[in-house]
Amino acid sequence: MKIIDLRSDTVTKPTKAMRQAMMDAEVGDDVYGEDPTVNRLEEKSAELMGKEAALFVPTGSMGNQLALMVHCERGQEVICDADAHVFHYEMAAAGILSGVQLYPVTDLHNENGLGVLIDHIRPPLSYLPQTRLICLENTLNRGGGSVMPLEQMAVVYRLAREYKLKVHLDGARIFNAATALQCDVTDLSGYADSVMFCLSKGLGAPVGSILAGKNEFIEQARRYRKLLGGGMRQAGVLAAAGLVALDDIAQLSDDHENAVRLAEGLAKIEGLSVDLSKVQTNMVMAEIQELSVQEFLDRILEAGVAAGPMGPGRVRFVTHRDVTAADIDEALMRIGQAL
Ligand SMILES: *Cc1c(COP(=O)(O)O)cnc(C)c1O
Repeated sequence: MKIIDLRSDTVTKPTKAMRQAMMDAEVGDDVYGEDPTVNRLEEKSAELMGKEAALFVPTGSMGNQLALMVHCERGQEVICDADAHVFHYEMAAAGILSGVQLYPVTDLHNENGLGVLIDHIRPPLSYLPQTRLICLENTLNRGGGSVMPLEQMAVVYRLAREYKLKVHLDGARIFNAATALQCDVTDLSGYADSVMFCLSKGLGAPVGSILAGKNEFIEQARRYRKLLGGGMRQAGVLAAAGLVALDDIAQLSDDHENAVRLAEGLAKIEGLSVDLSKVQTNMVMAEIQELSVQEFLDRILEAGVAAGPMGPGRVRFVTHRDVTAADIDEALMRIGQAL
């Protein structure tokens, strides 16, 4: 039995077209700036994000951490949502690499987030750390792939300007956000000084993320990328797959439709509850009643469906290009039987 893998959109495998492009990629030494395919991906990405420049990085985590390193000085503070990836899943790197303190704010991404945001910007007192950066995440992963609307991003950005703060957008899934909002990605990235997005998630590339921003910002990020050991040589073989991935953004709306299909099905299964109003992109969070999270995951895996743990009593299902609507129906049947 083939497992239907809904743990994450990172499990997507490169398509035939990507593998072919990787095979045919023109390459050079990217540390010398001589890889034409990497250069092409960086130019195209900068243009897509409406920024002056972009940098190809091995992972989204490195992209986020480079942004913190460039924007901040040691001892400064970064405001982020309490559910932020940068807070939960980046190995406390902000403290280790940038010497900054993260200030996680509950509900920052919710409608009333603006009020709480203002409350967390430090006044300029000699005995307080100084706020430097607001890190937003759209879509919000631990928030179940929830989308921050444009108006809210605009307000945060205006506030940041007023307080002379920078805004970094963790846009690992910025194309999912733009798809859900039916807007251009530049509408979102325009409300951030820097933006990171992942090629390796729903877009399906095997490896890589992009950091974009102003020329000077990217120049410094390039130095720090080398410092972290991220200066890759003939990286064009990877960038080639990224370029193909960027031609294929439209398919994300299928993933969103499949997530709704999955959520509606899960909501009908006894022992599970799903808040359908929170299914906005390619993720579904389900609350488990009777079983423990581990028992639940073990049981559905035995039946041929993989999902991931997401805190106490919660599991996460992620739809992606390697699962079809028929796979979703099959997964629902298997889960129903397993329970
Ligand atoms: C996956 C992810 C990242 C980091 O990407 P990696 O390539 O796994 O390091 C950053 N932010 C968010 C919101 C993510 O989902």
